[in-house]
Amino acid sequence: MNTQPVVSVRARVIAVHKTRWEIQADDGTTLEAIAGRDLEQDLPVVGDWVTATCHEVDTIARITTIEPRRSFLVRKRPGDVEHDAVVEQPIAANIDFALLTMADDDFNVRRLERYLTLAWDSGATPVIVLTKADLTSPEVLELMVSDAQSVSLGIQTITTSSVTGQGLAELREVLVPGSCAIVLGSSGVGKSSLLNALAGTDLQTVSHVRQFDGKGRHTTTSRRLVELPWGAYLVDTPGLRELQIWGDEQSLSHSFADVQAIAADCRFSDCTHNTEPGCAVQEAVSQGTLPAERLDSWRRLDRELAYLARKTDGAAARAERQRWKAIAKQQRAIKRDR
Ligand code: GDP
Ligand code: ZN
Repeated sequence: MNTQPVVSVRARVIAVHKTRWEIQADDGTTLEAIAGRDLEQDLPVVGDWVTATCHEVDTIARITTIEPRRSFLVRKRPGDVEHDAVVEQPIAANIDFALLTMADDDFNVRRLERYLTLAWDSGATPVIVLTKADLTSPEVLELMVSDAQSVSLGIQTITTSSVTGQGLAELREVLVPGSCAIVLGSSGVGKSSLLNALAGTDLQTVSHVRQFDGKGRHTTTSRRLVELPWGAYLVDTPGLRELQIWGDEQSLSHSFADVQAIAADCRFSDCTHNTEPGCAVQEAVSQGTLPAERLDSWRRLDRELAYLARKTDGAAARAERQRWKAIAKQQRAIKRDR
């Protein structure tokens, strides 16, 4: 029988491996941990605050509880569409900022809209980071910034270069001490380089397990919380190559505030902005005040959300949808009364 006293600690999950977690206790000690039986349905992710018990300092701890999450980044598991299954893939918890990275050769406004939806939905604040600025002409960079701003409505956009150091000070200001950020973006966009530039050291050797996929590209396989010199934290994540949104219509209304504002003037409250008479959205498109692609994107996302609502926990998704409809109705009432 083990007579060692059981010690209980509060700790943060700083790394996730397949079935092992690395946790850091409040006093700074790092422990290896496994998940307790009660957690099987909801495993800890990077950024989680947990309670763990252990018998002695050098044995493996057992995570017993996860504290309520302030924000939670989840995406649909990629490559599952043909199996007709929608599976949540939790990425990180308690994230303050989602740095949405794109470079010139990978810039895509529609994808940016998806990233924004994903970020809003998690509860984190999105920040758009246009990477490898040293490889892009100032003119093109300017176009990218204005394109990004046209779909993000007031979200901070920072252009960076890990080579020249451009934009890093600006980014450092966003990442205040104690805050936690995650870098999202395609493989090769410069996420690791940005992390290294911010950390001022090559983190790859200490914090990344690199493997090569079938096409010879390296992929980051382990996720880890890295403390930056000024006390902010960063999570690295594998490239979101097959990002599919996982959201509700509230986050949709966030990224499509422009469409929603115009839609409040449609004659019918359930207007689908197709061929209905008195459709303010169609009117705005024909007058050129709303780009036609914005409406297309909105439709695509709306369809995707409807699909997800059918596929997943219908009740919760439907409730959210109802709630959102109520908000839209309220908006119309406010406009009418003005
Ligand atoms: P990740 O897959 O998103 O982590 O991308 P990496 O950080 O590994 O960068 C991919 C490639 O782009 C590497 O060859 C980097 O050297 C290069 N790279 C990353 N950031 C920059 C940058 O700011 N400027 C230039 N010129 N190259 C960069
Ligand atoms: Zn309409």
